[in-house]
Amino acid sequence: MARILIVEDELKIARFLELELKHEGYDVIITGDGRQGLEKALNDDVDLVILDIMLPGINGIEVCRRIRHESQVPIIMLTAKDDVSDKVAGLDTGADDYMTKPFAIEELLARIRVALNRKQNKKEPKPTTLQIKKLKLNLASHSAYYGDDELTLTKKEYELLEYMIKNKNIVLSREQMLNNVWDYEYFGDTNVVDVYIRYLRQKIDEKYGIHLISTVRGVGYIIKDNDQ
Ligand code: CA
Repeated sequence: MARILIVEDELKIARFLELELKHEGYDVIITGDGRQGLEKALNDDVDLVILDIMLPGINGIEVCRRIRHESQVPIIMLTAKDDVSDKVAGLDTGADDYMTKPFAIEELLARIRVALNRKQNKKEPKPTTLQIKKLKLNLASHSAYYGDDELTLTKKEYELLEYMIKNKNIVLSREQMLNNVWDYEYFGDTNVVDVYIRYLRQKIDEKYGIHLISTVRGVGYIIKDNDQ
């Protein structure tokens, strides 16, 4: 069963959480001190941290920030008041979720289940980015960057670029690109590929003065890792 660390200095709340979580079958560790919480989060093999913000020692925001330097353990922050800046700070430092006190225990239990499931699914991470030279694709958010610049690509432009980068160093025919990136309504109309290649070149090659997409006469297009 999952082991949950509660970092909360208000004894009544800490005890209440302990009872409820144990009742659900979780293994529970409690501390009321920020510094100890940090240490336990990093060393006690915990699966999830419930972290209050107002704590003696180090406050919860700082504890969260320091945990994130070393660990991706799910963190649910507790905020005493409905303080938006606390929530923003908590999520900015890498908390997965937050709850405002007073909270309904059922809601917290549901969020714990979600966070633990997410952690389970993350165990075999799929690659989430692709990079070629200074061009980087975020496969999760479908966004593309050149250096720190975010490119403004349409959905199809992004999909075409992703397809080409996944198949880098391979000459792709217009038919291949059409079949893999477009829906059937464009069946046979390979002109659409040329149009989108032109868009991508305007937004990347021309804009940044690089040579990303090469034409292979009579065959199709290619994106190469490194220009020879
Ligand atoms: Ca507190």
